Amino acid sequence: MPWKIETKCLQEGYKPENGQPRVLPIYQSTTYKYDSTEHVAKLFDLSVPGHMYSRISNPTVECVENKIAALEGGIGALCTSSGQAASLISILNICEAGEHFVCSGTIYGGTINLFGASLKKHGISVTFVDQDSSEEEIQKAFQPNTKALFGESIANPKISVLDIEKFAKIAHKNNVPLIIDNTFATPILLRPIEYGADIVVHSTTKYMDGHAVSIGGVIVDSGKFNWDNGKFPGLTEPDDTYHGMVYTRDCGKAAYITKARVQLIRDYGCYMSANNAFLLNLGLETLHLRIERHCRNAEKVAEYLSTSDKIMSVSYPTLAKDSYHSLAQKYLPKGCSGVVSFRIKGGREGAVKFMDKLKLAAIVVHVADCRTAVLHPASSTHRQLSDEQLVQAGIDPGLIRFSVGIENIKDIIEDIKQALED
Ligand SMILES: *Cc1c(COP(=O)(O)O)cnc(C)c1O
Repeated sequence: MPWKIETKCLQEGYKPENGQPRVLPIYQSTTYKYDSTEHVAKLFDLSVPGHMYSRISNPTVECVENKIAALEGGIGALCTSSGQAASLISILNICEAGEHFVCSGTIYGGTINLFGASLKKHGISVTFVDQDSSEEEIQKAFQPNTKALFGESIANPKISVLDIEKFAKIAHKNNVPLIIDNTFATPILLRPIEYGADIVVHSTTKYMDGHAVSIGGVIVDSGKFNWDNGKFPGLTEPDDTYHGMVYTRDCGKAAYITKARVQLIRDYGCYMSANNAFLLNLGLETLHLRIERHCRNAEKVAEYLSTSDKIMSVSYPTLAKDSYHSLAQKYLPKGCSGVVSFRIKGGREGAVKFMDKLKLAAIVVHVADCRTAVLHPASSTHRQLSDEQLVQAGIDPGLIRFSVGIENIKDIIEDIKQALED
């Protein structure tokens, strides 16, 4: 019987043999020694497994990749230097200049920038859609040159829940993969591949690391998408920079994730370091415990806030009146992560006053780590967005994103209570 997810958090990835270190070692080496040129040639042909250079792969990082692939139910994974790099590579791997993809407008502000502004300068265009629209409405955004559909399972910071099955249906009808950013949910709460997603990306910087010590990202390949449908010549035709490799022919189910590594990571150089992978692995070992506590604490914070007359509205999908409640019941039965967002009375000014009075909850430009933290998107992470884009991403000037930690819930509620007092 396959291991349960809690066991996978601890036991997958690194499997030491007799006499080897119990704990995943940090292979702090840029390169690897071989006895013959013939062996190295085989490595380059990918006909034998092994490491060549730590810009492309590293034994420490590889163990963490295997663990995350096992957690998400994918056939392979690739760790990147940041969540941004994971989102970028996930698109660049299948979308070239002159091509297009469709993306939910309700996603992390940094991803909106990356897709809407930076990729545009490289000739890749995106159409942002309202993820709550009907299939017919979203279908209108598709063009003959569309190569992917992208969305966030729990959107940062709106805390909306994506109907992944609806998105998968639309993507597959158009013969393109569905890519899901699963950062907030983590595979503990939701595994998008089980609902039809083809590729999953994460900012491991958030809950997976969980202690705010290392920036990182990961791409997981389900191995299920059929790339050989005429739309993805980069995967089905010879790669001249890789001596004629045809990824679908030579790598089978692992075509996408192999190309991402040996072509894109090789060239763009945004691989995770061994040190960061070691830290990420420590975080992953307790992910299941932390996520459970984050969820229980956040549920109590959301309930408390929703009874306060100082608060205009609370977004947290376990609340019965939340507009994403029924989607959360389907996709997130174990909980909805530790992030609660709410609108305080008094708009921007009210938000700033509340934030400055908090004692335990720290003002940081970060979210989803074990310590309670608070952020005002309109004056920080989402500063670069126009008012129109703010509204599209579901952000009100008085919106506060409260990242509930794993401290004692009584202390967290007490802190909120004193900060809301006049
Ligand atoms: C933070 C975040 C990212 C970007 O990740 P970095 O590790 O900061 O580069 C992407 N998606 C979501 C949902 C995030 O919260």
